[in-house]
Amino acid sequence: MTLTRGLIINGQEVPASSGRTTPDTDPWTGTPYAYVAAGTPQDVTRAVDASEAAFADWAALAPTRRRAIFLRAADLLESRTAEAVTLMAGEVGGAAPWAGFNAALAAGILRDAAAAVTQPTGQILATDTPGAYSMQVRVPVGVVAAIAPWNAPLILGIRAVAMPLAMGNAVVLKPSEDAPVACGLFLADILHEAGLPDGVLDVVTNDPADAPDIVATLIGDPRVRMVNFTGSTAVGRRIGVLAAENLKPAVLELGGKNALLVLADADVDYAVNAAAFGSFMNSGQICMSADRVIVHRDIAEEFHGKFAQKIDALPYGDPSDPANAVGPVISAHAARRVATLIQDATAKGARLLAGTGRVEGEAGALLAPVVLAGVTEDMDIHHGEIFGPATVVHVVDGADEAVALANDTPYGLTAGVITEDVAAGIAVARRLRTGIVRVNDQTVADEPQAPFGGVKDSGYGRFGGQAGMDAFTDTRWIAVQAHGHAHYPF
Ligand code: NAD
Repeated sequence: MTLTRGLIINGQEVPASSGRTTPDTDPWTGTPYAYVAAGTPQDVTRAVDASEAAFADWAALAPTRRRAIFLRAADLLESRTAEAVTLMAGEVGGAAPWAGFNAALAAGILRDAAAAVTQPTGQILATDTPGAYSMQVRVPVGVVAAIAPWNAPLILGIRAVAMPLAMGNAVVLKPSEDAPVACGLFLADILHEAGLPDGVLDVVTNDPADAPDIVATLIGDPRVRMVNFTGSTAVGRRIGVLAAENLKPAVLELGGKNALLVLADADVDYAVNAAAFGSFMNSGQICMSADRVIVHRDIAEEFHGKFAQKIDALPYGDPSDPANAVGPVISAHAARRVATLIQDATAKGARLLAGTGRVEGEAGALLAPVVLAGVTEDMDIHHGEIFGPATVVHVVDGADEAVALANDTPYGLTAGVITEDVAAGIAVARRLRTGIVRVNDQTVADEPQAPFGGVKDSGYGRFGGQAGMDAFTDTRWIAVQAHGHAHYPF
């Protein structure tokens, strides 16, 4: 029987005020995996009502009690990994290793949030006022709006809520329509089972056509004090405008056009494996996926041959078959978009080193992994984020040209530099204009305690560690005349 889920408002699962539901489609079969409530702007207001009402008690709850909830939730999430694997295969066509990684990292994010709860909350400042204490303290902002994408649903759903909650905020989460369960409802179930009080986390699912109204209502509600958005640059730009119009701070984690630089001294076999993983993990649908592999001419021929051979041999297909490294993309529409990028490139003279560029599979959402060479600036694939199982190899004559090409994009999320000479790798890393650089490794990785985020069109603000704690709190100056009375001039 197909799963049916409602909204989560004040700890209760409730239907949308309109009574409508919306399908959540399995990309492999093309049939509904679940039906979820199609929330309305009125439902958003109900969710904010509940969050606002729950906020003060949550913010005042003893830190050790808050910490215990995150630690319990992390254990619960790990214990439900098998369920998460089935859920991600059904909702987003995610292969089992990717889903397992999602569950493990999401649990790690919860544990990092638990640790953040008991970090120092401020500093004592120098003051010229006799008998006074001057303090700088971090305080929760209030209700936080969290908007998340589908592609790493457990990680990004939890990332959107964990640190904001840990800092004492209440959260209204709007998960992606393509993963409303894995990115929202499943996670809220776990947090509630772990003891999160009712109303502290509210979840509003929606029909895709209603997303602009839902989000505008959420960001426009005066009780919502901050926005965090993870998703595409195009939508992030609109979210940024909405947040600015309402004078609300925003963390925007957006798309990438990430480059993997393979320097002349690289171990070619290692570089091939790194490029394969960085480009094709989760069918290339990771914000950190390597869209461009920039290889030094001295090793280009060997690299091209070995890379093409490896990618042509990568098993792809049904995401529930553990033998498959590459599954479908999120929808038939997404597969056609990627196929069109490949056709545009080959029609303009690019060469296919691996793959076919043809859409396959039961529901038309599958593509054999593709490697393209000879891509030039007149081709669409040179500019936009691919977000599918395709990558482009470029040949350069040295590190300067590699850096210039890597930086020649409006995006700036992550990069990798493959070299056996770590000092040379660090020197290149310092010249790359991205929020994240990995030396002697590929582009895809995340750790809960590390500051994650991009520059340029990849957005602004950071999740993770101290940066995340600062992002989801306000700094308040508190001055206390502790000894004696202050002196006034009149
Ligand atoms: P998306 O921008 O289409 O959707 C993200 C969220 O925005 C969803 O919740 C969606 O419902 C909502 N949304 C969509 N259209 C909207 C509109 N007009 N108004 C308001 N809200 C709207 O992105 P996606 O397809 O879900 O995710 C893929 C994108 O996310 C890629 O570009 C990827 O690089 C990016 N991403 C970035 C990071 C990061 O941390 N930087 C992580 C994962 C994904």
